[in-house]
Amino acid sequence: MKKLIDPYILMDDFTLAFEKKASLFPEDVEEIIKEQVLIPSVNARFGKWKETKNLKGETIYECSVCGGIGHYDNFCPVCGADMNGGEGDD
Ligand SMILES: [Zn+2]
Repeated sequence: MKKLIDPYILMDDFTLAFEKKASLFPEDVEEIIKEQVLIPSVNARFGKWKETKNLKGETIYECSVCGGIGHYDNFCPVCGADMNGGEGDD
């Protein structure tokens, strides 16, 4: 089952870190992300990339959930749907 990070807790943690340190380094950011509690995504939406063509005739990929255009990634950048169709358990 996919696991998610709560973005509001993450933002709070970044705010706290900025209050302690004027600037954060990549290793600080990595540490904050690694410390986040992972939440099982019980309401995950699953979709598939649908190959189609744009007006120029170029191949593009359309999300089957929201119709958004993406780059054949694991998640739709528009609606966040899991494009692996719920298969695999990582
Ligand atoms: Zn989508």
